[in-house]
Amino acid sequence: MNLTIIGTGYVGLVTGTCFAEMGHHVTCVDVDARKVAQLRQGKSPIFEPGLDDFLKRNIAQKRLSFSTSLADACDSGEVFFIAVGTPPDQDGSADLQHVLEVARQLGEHLKSDAIVVDKSTVPVGTARMVQETIEHHLQHRGADHRVVVVSNPEFLKEGAAINDFMKPDRIIIGTEDAHARERLAELYAPFNRNHQRLLFMGTRDAEMTKYAANAMLATKISFMNEVAHLCEALGVDVENVRLGIGSDERIGYHFIYPGCGYGGSCFPKDVRALCHMARDQGIEPGILDAVERRNQAQKERLAQKIIARYGEDLSALTFALWGLAFKPGTDDLREAPSRTLLEHLIARGARIQAYDPVAMEAAREHFPKEWFDRRHLMLAEHQYAALEGVDALILVTEWKPFRHPDLGAMARLMRQRVVFDGRNQYDPHQMRAAGFYYDAIGRSSES
Ligand code: NAD
Repeated sequence: MNLTIIGTGYVGLVTGTCFAEMGHHVTCVDVDARKVAQLRQGKSPIFEPGLDDFLKRNIAQKRLSFSTSLADACDSGEVFFIAVGTPPDQDGSADLQHVLEVARQLGEHLKSDAIVVDKSTVPVGTARMVQETIEHHLQHRGADHRVVVVSNPEFLKEGAAINDFMKPDRIIIGTEDAHARERLAELYAPFNRNHQRLLFMGTRDAEMTKYAANAMLATKISFMNEVAHLCEALGVDVENVRLGIGSDERIGYHFIYPGCGYGGSCFPKDVRALCHMARDQGIEPGILDAVERRNQAQKERLAQKIIARYGEDLSALTFALWGLAFKPGTDDLREAPSRTLLEHLIARGARIQAYDPVAMEAAREHFPKEWFDRRHLMLAEHQYAALEGVDALILVTEWKPFRHPDLGAMARLMRQRVVFDGRNQYDPHQMRAAGFYYDAIGRSSES
């Protein structure tokens, strides 16, 4: 099939590349000319394991191309995927300006009948709005192409996106149209060979499914963070509690790791957008509000612990920070807990030597320039270089290379043996035996 993917972010680029890998002809369109130029040379603007190989191979075999012009892509496309961002608006609702701009352009440029597939995470009822927008612009220019808008939310995880796309737990296709259903079943057939993963439903049901999935995952995390806070107050080790409850298969081990809060471009914005949808219906989203509140509080926990130990004035202190990305396996810094921590520490005069295995370049673009200019934030060449002369190490992202550090080297490099562990990566007994003051989430800093 000839496919057009609009938006080359984490979702669009992975979608386009994986469909090309399955033999389709794919054009990826983005308004960002710099990204498109880079992609044409086979260079991925984002870090995603395995993506570079897929990208280079499919460009070389002429199945994958990039363009800044949706109008040109409309010459040959049959199925159009919308994968543009839906960032949070000021009131927490999903900002649909990019999605509706794409709909407008499709209405203006489509040359034949088309299936338009919405992969962006959008509120219930958006497929209908997209359909109406396209039809309005088609009518305006006297075109009578038949367009069907389908909801096909994406569930990939950054850091494992290629694998998730190639071997999805489920593929949700929301449409009431028999032809679109048939075409998409055909398109996704290679991903559905060993297992029945295709789920068909109405467009509104599909739109809601995506929000419910993310809200459920965020709820598990916030629940566990609240339990962790209580454990800390009661002198209980949350890691024992986690193992104890996870062994119950009704609960399971996934997504019950306490930490310094969830971030990224999805959970925070999607929980807020779902709260907004609830209020629009006159429903108070009590659970979802609490999930969001707990997460905000959790992002403050590490700073609170540091201030409790050193006081409000941190100007004489230097901290090492391990991990900037919102989770391991990605360079995405959107709503990352590292940001909240840095804001608190820098506002109190601290200096930070940070290291992240892949998010250093992104950090230079993402964080305020003055943090670098005034040397409050310095990026270290490797994880041990970040430790030189510091008063404490703060671990924010649980990248694998941070899991088994050389405690001897740490002790030699650091001015003080102090570790604040935002992801409960280390054994408190081992750390204390090595002479470290060790404070983690939901575990007493004393015992
Ligand atoms: P992103 O911000 O990384 O990328 C969006 C891209 O769309 C950008 O490159 C931007 O330049 C481009 N764009 C914006 N307007 C455009 C237009 N009019 N025409 C062409 N391109 C345009 O976004 P993302 O993280 O890939 O997310 C995309 C959507 O998928 C969002 O709704 C998100 O909630 C959802 N989603 C994201 C993930 C994830 O892990 N990132 C997972 C599942 C679903």
